[in-house]
Amino acid sequence: MFSLSEILFPSRCIGCSSLGISICSACRLNWHPHIYKREILVLGSTFPVLSAVQYSPIASRVLLSAKESQIFAADLLISKGLKHSLQYFINHYGSGTLISVPSRKSATRKRGRDFLKEITSSLATEMKLPAAFPLSHRRKVRDQSQLNIEERSQNISGAFEVSTQFAARNSQGNIAPKLIVIDDLITTGATLTEAIRALRTAGFTVLGAVTSCTAKPLR
Ligand SMILES: [Zn+2]
Repeated sequence: MFSLSEILFPSRCIGCSSLGISICSACRLNWHPHIYKREILVLGSTFPVLSAVQYSPIASRVLLSAKESQIFAADLLISKGLKHSLQYFINHYGSGTLISVPSRKSATRKRGRDFLKEITSSLATEMKLPAAFPLSHRRKVRDQSQLNIEERSQNISGAFEVSTQFAARNSQGNIAPKLIVIDDLITTGATLTEAIRALRTAGFTVLGAVTSCTAKPLR
């Protein structure tokens, strides 16, 4: 027996494409939030990065479903992972304003949205935290997925800028917010390193970062 909504919008598992619910129980096991901790070194200081899910072929399909196919159930899974790590982060390192890492401009244009910005906004509302989106690309960068460690760090080096309006919150004698950087995936840490470097250089205190997935760096 199918419900009307299933007939109109037959849903398939995001992880394995089998017909049924948005994620089947077998794939759900691959998206069960834990806490994975890494540290990255930026400008001589160490920053904690907490992640919820280890990267796998299934996790990869969840991220791609949100990024490329705008599948809302995938947004929800990413959001749940982020919420889990963020809660742990706040308990251990304190609370702050959420700052999402921007997608490449060409990707945002093609997809019609910056998926991480949308997820971060709704997560901030849900957790009653402030969020801001001051980071943007100052130049073109290549898609990182096929690049090795060295190529990634060259590709992203100096790529982010902080909006002058947001940076001015520091210089006008206001108490600048402490920041927590949000991304979907940490692999080599190159992107988060650059995001934190840009924010630190603009004078902000960064507490660390939270991602939904963590992948072992490529060799
Ligand atoms: Zn499945």
